[in-house]
Amino acid sequence: MSTEKIKNMENSATEDMPSQQIELPSAVSVKSLAAIINVEPVDVIKQLMRNGHMLTINDAVDPDIATLICQAYGFAVKEQVDDPSEAKSLVLEHDESDLEHLEARPPVVTILGHVDHGKTTLLDQIRNSNVVTGEAGGITQHIGAYQVETEGNLITFLDTPGHEAFTAMRARGAQVTDVAVLVVAADDGVMPQTVEAINHVKAAGVPIITAINKVDKADADLERVKRELAEHDVLIEEWGGDVIAVPVSALTGEGVTDLLTNIQLVSEIGELKANPTKPAQGIIVEARVDKNKGPTSTVLVQAGELTIGCIIAAGVTKGRVKAMVDSHGNSVDTAGPSVPVEILGLNGIPEAGEVFIEASNDKEAREIVETELKKRASQGGPGVTLEEIYSRIESGESKSLDLIVKTDVQGSIDAVKNSLDGIQDDQSKINIIHAASGRITESDVLLAVASKAVIVGFNTDPSPGALSASKQEHIDVRTYKVIYDLVDDISKALKGLLDPVMEDILQGYATVRAVFNIGNNTRIAGVYVNEGIISRRAEMRVTRNSKVIFSGTVASLKHFKDDVREINSGLEGGIGIDGFNDFNEGDVIEAHLEREVE
Ligand code: GDP
Repeated sequence: MSTEKIKNMENSATEDMPSQQIELPSAVSVKSLAAIINVEPVDVIKQLMRNGHMLTINDAVDPDIATLICQAYGFAVKEQVDDPSEAKSLVLEHDESDLEHLEARPPVVTILGHVDHGKTTLLDQIRNSNVVTGEAGGITQHIGAYQVETEGNLITFLDTPGHEAFTAMRARGAQVTDVAVLVVAADDGVMPQTVEAINHVKAAGVPIITAINKVDKADADLERVKRELAEHDVLIEEWGGDVIAVPVSALTGEGVTDLLTNIQLVSEIGELKANPTKPAQGIIVEARVDKNKGPTSTVLVQAGELTIGCIIAAGVTKGRVKAMVDSHGNSVDTAGPSVPVEILGLNGIPEAGEVFIEASNDKEAREIVETELKKRASQGGPGVTLEEIYSRIESGESKSLDLIVKTDVQGSIDAVKNSLDGIQDDQSKINIIHAASGRITESDVLLAVASKAVIVGFNTDPSPGALSASKQEHIDVRTYKVIYDLVDDISKALKGLLDPVMEDILQGYATVRAVFNIGNNTRIAGVYVNEGIISRRAEMRVTRNSKVIFSGTVASLKHFKDDVREINSGLEGGIGIDGFNDFNEGDVIEAHLEREVE
């Protein structure tokens, strides 16, 4: 590629400005490059095209070319001195040496269930009646998690109930919960969000304890709850299963001690351990900006010991821990495994579910954050598509195709399930991790991210929020109107026979310089081809003020008087488009082709 050419790119707006320094990741796609320099991907594609590089939005850009593109937009690209592979990265480490230092740690518990079944009341009841010994004087502080003591043992509760928060954390890679308490109101029974919670917890592989709540109410019906739980494959001990069910009243406190004892029991089976001697690491539970104190974050330590003064990197933020407060409002100097503390000192607000790790000094913390930023800039998102699932099954990395099924009405769920049952065999298993009626929601998308699943909808569609979340996270959402088509697609996916996915290629674009009336109510555009080529087989998209106003096929393509197959950049010609006459001078006509994604 000619450096001169790129340098000559029209860019007068930035010429006089001092250039801003940026760093480029070692691998960068067109999309992430566009994001880094804050321009539309199509503009980057056009710049590349001018220099003879036909790339699509997801293609990788050669580092030298990426540098030239950045320079063309007025950015100075900083030389990469450090090898990013040598920098410590933001992942939780479980190294071999841990084994000899492992010590028992308290369980971390999340409470889930249908709305109004008593999750918040239960969390308050547990908190208020089980204050840690000796700390009764502390002012109760809601920091997103708290610890209580029961029969000499500590239990940590996450204070944000519900499966959305639970799965959102998991979608960011954080498995925080050791035991899930499923609250079901005895007067209401198993409801849609109970089923959702069950499936989210099962997908995470976390043990469940059911708290059958509101037993103080006259219309409480425990037997009905137990039966309905069994219908959703939550088999309690009385029914021959292994799930503990504890009748409670979150309001009166009845049964709550029993619930805590059982949480302790279940977590003992899990033999929860952590190494308190290594550098601290853990998860962000929540973070916010406090009007007076600045960024405050609640962290849950998972290993090591967090101390005042230590330096941590969390997500893309970092800082020295200046103050720590526990869930009872007490200032503390250290926090070990499973202890939640609110900390001050980070230079920003990390997201819930992000990992934090201790760094040996500020330079290392900065490097960790820089590495993380580069990693994020070069990755689109986790991305789960039917094709990828197939290749994971092929390579032995995965044994099943995990699906989330949403249907218009409850009655269609079984029809879809039964049809899918018919196409699996020993090699290729279909695992429906969640099936429900209704629109596809953001919570479904999060579950898909967390569980590497694909979403299929039958006679339903994604909500706007779910649609944008699925695009952002690159989650395959496939909707069908006919069961046969759904089953056929999944069956092909299992055999690796899916039709290829097509991607859009911008072949070239031209500016309309004049409009000619050639009779018969037909107008053609006299154009100048700015970049690439305009060919007859491409789809023409007429854009005005950067908005597509018409798409259609070529009716005529001329260079002077000759009919031609294509017009190259730098040349003039005439374009007629089927079904379109409304050209204006200044319109831009883009030529697009479809190409199979390799
Ligand atoms: P959440 O939406 O699951 O967090 O439910 P809440 O904790 O907000 O409770 C919903 C309603 O049920 C509130 O009016 C509570 O007072 C009530 N409630 C919760 N637990 C009990 C209980 O054990 N017995 C009775 N009678 N009411 C309860």
